[in-house]
Amino acid sequence: MDFLRRLFGGGTRSPSDEGLHLYVRCDHCGAPVHVRVNPYNDAAVEYDDREEISGYRLRKEIMDSRCFRLIYAELVFDRNRRETERTIEGGSFVSRETYEQLVAEDAARRSGTA
Ligand SMILES: [Zn+2]
Repeated sequence: MDFLRRLFGGGTRSPSDEGLHLYVRCDHCGAPVHVRVNPYNDAAVEYDDREEISGYRLRKEIMDSRCFRLIYAELVFDRNRRETERTIEGGSFVSRETYEQLVAEDAARRSGTA
């Protein structure tokens, strides 16, 4: 799993990295998917009744590489860009640990050792 460790950077985050990592499992085929979103670039501004910024909403279409069905994730942030809510259709959010485990199981299955 060396490549995964490299991919996920082992804890040293550069300050310019505003990315948010989403780990998702497809409801249909169970495939694990990882996407990185940027709450600063990808989110749409939302305004309240007084036309002041009330928060940000980020919609993300995610596709796995097994059944190619779209998974729709939606994240809501407050005006300080702190995440307040996340919903998903067609899949479910999993932890990074679960994601890595699913990827490992997948690789083992494909190489015929599981
Ligand atoms: Zn799928």
